[in-house]
Amino acid sequence: MSRVAIVTGGTRGIGAAISRALQASGARVAATYAGNDEAAAKFTAESGIPAYKWDVGDFNACAAGVARVEKEVGPVDILVNNAGITRDGFLHKMTPEQWSSVIRTNLDSLFNMTRQVIEGMRARSFGRVVVISSINGQKGQLGQANYSASKAGDIGFVKALALEGAAKNVTANAICPGYIGTEMVAAIDETILKTRILPQIPAGRLGLPEEVARCVVFLASDEAGFVTGSTISVNGGQHMA
Ligand code: NDP
Repeated sequence: MSRVAIVTGGTRGIGAAISRALQASGARVAATYAGNDEAAAKFTAESGIPAYKWDVGDFNACAAGVARVEKEVGPVDILVNNAGITRDGFLHKMTPEQWSSVIRTNLDSLFNMTRQVIEGMRARSFGRVVVISSINGQKGQLGQANYSASKAGDIGFVKALALEGAAKNVTANAICPGYIGTEMVAAIDETILKTRILPQIPAGRLGLPEEVARCVVFLASDEAGFVTGSTISVNGGQHMA
């Protein structure tokens, strides 16, 4: 059966790899994005996957957006909460805007998006919710109190949802990537990357978006019904939680 999947932030970086991998696995995919129309149009032209623009931090926008996807693509079986941002700064310099924008996009979005699809999943006795958390939600990171808090929150959310959904064949799992070669990581100073970050990664390299995407495809599959509430690390051995 062809499942329907939404991938938030599914037009660039890790999300784009997830969208493509789910499509290759046979799913009908809708990818969402925030505002980069050019990247979204290029992604759709290359992949054939439709892109939908809305802010995952806005509950009403998520309600309208998901309703549109369900009308145009079908009832959602798989939700990948991938959209995320960083607004780094040491806590003693962090502004309320830096704090709240990250919590809103990375954590409020889980409620805003999952709430739209959870009743349908429960009613149809099938659902797969995958959240892209982060190694920095597992271990913390300098300059990322906001991001680490949001990503640790992802893990708590998944565990509660896993308990609530288990009897209805609705699973919830988190993936914690380490450093993956996307634009988010390209923003890091190259000297810092070479001298401080790569030496911390036993695999000696950055991860590929496709390596995260493969885990999502597994967790989203019909066959993964007994895997729920788990946290999968994809970090080249950098941190073993
Ligand atoms: P990118 O910055 O490359 O892409 C982010 C995507 O999210 C874009 O499609 C963007 O849309 C979308 N997005 C951002 N804010 C919103 C919003 N408010 N509403 C809707 N969509 C939004 O990110 P990555 O691919 O690097 O990261 C993907 C996820 O993986 C994030 O949750 C990140 O925290 C996590 N992660 C990444 C790691 C890495 O090394 N890259 C490591 C660990 C975790 P638009 O194109 O319009 O801007």
